[in-house]
Amino acid sequence: MSAVATEDLEAFRRRARTFVRANLRPVGSAVMTVRSRVSDEEELAAVARDREVQRMLFDAGLAGVCVPREYGGQGLTPAHQRVLNEELAGFEFPSRIQVPTFAPCAAVLLEFGTEEQKQRHIPPMLRGEEIWMQFLSEPSGGSDVAGALTSAVRDGDGWLLSGSKVWTTGAWWSDWALCLARTDWDVAKHAGLTVFILPIHQPSIDVHRIEMLNGNREFCQEFLNEVRVPDGDRVGGVNDGWTVGTRWMFHERMSYNSPLVTFPTDAVHGVAGGASTLELARAAGRADDPRVRELIGEARALEVVWRELQHRVGVGIATGAMSSQASAVARVFHCGASMRQTTIAFDVAGAAGGAWTDDDGPLARAGTDFLMRQVACIGGGTTEMARNVVSERVLGMPRERTLDKDVAFRDVPRSPSAKR
Ligand SMILES: Cc1cc2nc3c(=O)[nH]c(=O)nc-3n(C[C@H](O)[C@H](O)[C@H](O)COP(=O)(O)OP(=O)(O)OC[C@H]3O[C@@H](n4cnc5c(N)ncnc54)[C@H](O)[C@@H]3O)c2cc1C
Repeated sequence: MSAVATEDLEAFRRRARTFVRANLRPVGSAVMTVRSRVSDEEELAAVARDREVQRMLFDAGLAGVCVPREYGGQGLTPAHQRVLNEELAGFEFPSRIQVPTFAPCAAVLLEFGTEEQKQRHIPPMLRGEEIWMQFLSEPSGGSDVAGALTSAVRDGDGWLLSGSKVWTTGAWWSDWALCLARTDWDVAKHAGLTVFILPIHQPSIDVHRIEMLNGNREFCQEFLNEVRVPDGDRVGGVNDGWTVGTRWMFHERMSYNSPLVTFPTDAVHGVAGGASTLELARAAGRADDPRVRELIGEARALEVVWRELQHRVGVGIATGAMSSQASAVARVFHCGASMRQTTIAFDVAGAAGGAWTDDDGPLARAGTDFLMRQVACIGGGTTEMARNVVSERVLGMPRERTLDKDVAFRDVPRSPSAKR
C-alpha cells in the first residue's frame, strides 16, 4: 500500500487546510441555486474558474479523494472526503464540476466503464478538463426514464443516435454526456436500452438554450441528428442499459452525498438556508422579531436534519446496513425541506422579496429563489418518483400497476407526438 493510501485523517486534514487557506478565495457559505440573470460572460468566467480550482485541487492531491489511484484519484476513504468538505467550509469550490460530472457520471463509468473508458475520461474529469452532463430527460417525459425514445441504430462498427434530450443544465458550457438510448423497440421497455458516451459539441448535435420566464438560460435541449458513436463508447452491454440505468439513478439520488463529490459542509443547497436566513433577517431589519426568529430556527433545524440524515443514509448504504434504494429517503426529505426553506426566506425578506431594487442585495434573491422553489422537487427526479422508490423498494409495498411491462416497446400506447 502506498504512503498516500495510508494517510491518516489528521495528516490529511492538515494538508487540506494548508492548501485551502493558501490558495482558495473565502466566499462565506456557498449557495447552490438556479441563478436568474447572469450574463453569459459571467457564467463562462465562473466555469473557467471552477476548472482552474478543480485543477489546483488535483495538483494538490485533493481531487478524487475516493477515486482509485490508477485513475488519478487519491484512493482514500469517504471519511477523508468528509474532512475535505469540512476544510472547504467558507471557501470557493468547483461547484459546476461536482454534479453531474462526478456523481452520477464518473460513478457510472467507474462501475460499468471499460478500462479504456476509465483511463480516458476519469483523469481529465479530475483535472477539470472534462465537464459531464446527463442526457436522460426527453420532451415526452423525464420521470419514466426507461421510456426513452431517443434511438440508437447499428451502423457498421458504431451507432447512429437520433432524438432529443432536454432540461440539461449547463450543456452549452459542458464537454461530454452520458446518454440513454433505445437500441431495441421489439422487446419490453426496460430490455431495449443502452448507454453511450457522447462529446456534446459536434455538428450532429444542436444544443438549444431554453430561456425561462426569470431570464435564466442554463437549461438546454439537445437535438441529436444521426450522431455517430463508436461502439467503444458504449457503457455496459447492448440492451443492458437498465442495469446501468438503475445504478445511474442511485448515483443521481446520492449526488451531493456521494463520496465522489466535493461539497463544503456549510454550503447551502438549493436556496437560502439557516445562515442565509439569518443574514436575510438582519438585512431586512427583522432579526429581533420573535416570529422571524422562530423561522430562522426552523430553517436551521431543517438544514441540520438534512445533513445528518444524508450522512446517516450514506453511512448506512456504505456499510450495507441499508439498501442503496434508501438514498430516496434523503431525497424525499430534501425536497420538502428545500421548499420550506425557500418559503421561510421569502417570508423573512418581507416586502423586498416581492418587489426589489438593485440595492436590496440578498433580499432580492429571496424573491427569485421563491419563484424557483420547486426546482429541488423536480431536478434529479421528482419527489413523487422518490416516494414511489421509498414505498415500493424500501418499505416493500405493492408495486405500481404498469401496462408496458410485458409488451414490445413499439406497441406501448403513447401520445401521437411521442410515436415512432
Ligand atoms: C434544476 C433541474 C435540473 C435538471 N437537470 C437535468 C439534467 O441535467 N439532465 C436531464 O436529463 N434532466 C434534467 N432535469 C429534468 C428532470 O430530471 C425532469 O424534469 C424530471 O425527471 C421530471 O420529468 P418531467 O419534467 O418530464 O415531468 P414528467 O415526467 O412529465 O412528470 C410530470 C408530473 O407527473 C408526476 N409523475 C410522473 N410519473 C409518475 C408516477 N409513476 N408516479 C407518481 N407521479 C408521477 C411527476 O412527479 C411530475 O409531478 C432537470 C430538472 C431540473 C428542475
